[in-house]
Amino acid sequence: MGTLDNRIVLLGAAHGFVINDLRSITDGSTFLYEREHELQNALLEGFAEMAFIERQYQTAYAELLTNGTPELPGYLKEIAEARPTLPASCVIELHAFDLSTYFKSFLLHAKGALDKLVPLYSYRYFDNLKQFSDKGERLIRALKNNKHVTHREQLIALLKKNKVLWIDRLIDMRDEYAHYSSLPAYQNFTLAGAKANQKLPSGISDFDPPTVVVGETRHIASEYLQTVKSNMVAFLNQFLRLCEFTPGRRPKHYLHCDCGYVFAKRSKQGKAPGKLILTGTLELRVKNRDLDYAVIVCPRCQSTTDTDLKFWRDEGCSFSSQHSGSKQ
Ligand SMILES: [Zn+2]
Repeated sequence: MGTLDNRIVLLGAAHGFVINDLRSITDGSTFLYEREHELQNALLEGFAEMAFIERQYQTAYAELLTNGTPELPGYLKEIAEARPTLPASCVIELHAFDLSTYFKSFLLHAKGALDKLVPLYSYRYFDNLKQFSDKGERLIRALKNNKHVTHREQLIALLKKNKVLWIDRLIDMRDEYAHYSSLPAYQNFTLAGAKANQKLPSGISDFDPPTVVVGETRHIASEYLQTVKSNMVAFLNQFLRLCEFTPGRRPKHYLHCDCGYVFAKRSKQGKAPGKLILTGTLELRVKNRDLDYAVIVCPRCQSTTDTDLKFWRDEGCSFSSQHSGSKQ
């Protein structure tokens, strides 16, 4: 559950089939603070969207295997008439338009789910990367340069392993489809002329199922989608675990809002270089005094940013009431 100022977001509407995957993704991670809940929900929604499309593909695929298409009997009649002298090398292709649409859509949403992981990393380690750009290479560079990250080597190793295993080729396909609106790697139901000459096809099950060429290997498309989905669950889970969303963490303190508004900056010169100077009155809303957890309300965009009260106390700011401004 994530809370915004005047609304409560419940993710419980996710359908049963996806809920176990969502639990697996967040297993071992504890999201404590407002912004973490928002980012977690965005990630889970992104994954669920992808999972719904995978489900649509599998449902439509099963339906086609059972019932064929309305046009199929007519096609089979034509094939029967052309037998047994079809050119052996010809390929008869049955375009199941719904399946290819779901497949392409899956690629876009899978990249979308990866994109939603990155803000959780950025939140956790004060980085500003927003998307899974350049097949994760930018995330690897960010990890190398971020001094806050504890499990740097493991995170980089995890990313590299998953890039090779499935991410790079998935994103290649996604890019090809997004840029050229076509996906030659995907092949519809097919029937080789030689096979049709040997035996009269009686239904869609005599066709070869839709496939996709990934790297050098041709996969059955429905199996490929399942594999990517389970790889995604494992990867997201391991990545989040290594980001250490552990219970009992202190709240994060940020000196700026997501909109770019700066709450305070460090003085560069003067009598006290390094001292934090507020840019205006800090409007704080205390969420949990025991945890020193509060949010700052942005004077520009009114959205809230997590903060650690102890951090501000240590910087010499004082605040008294539940909804307090702050003075130095
Ligand atoms: Zn703002």
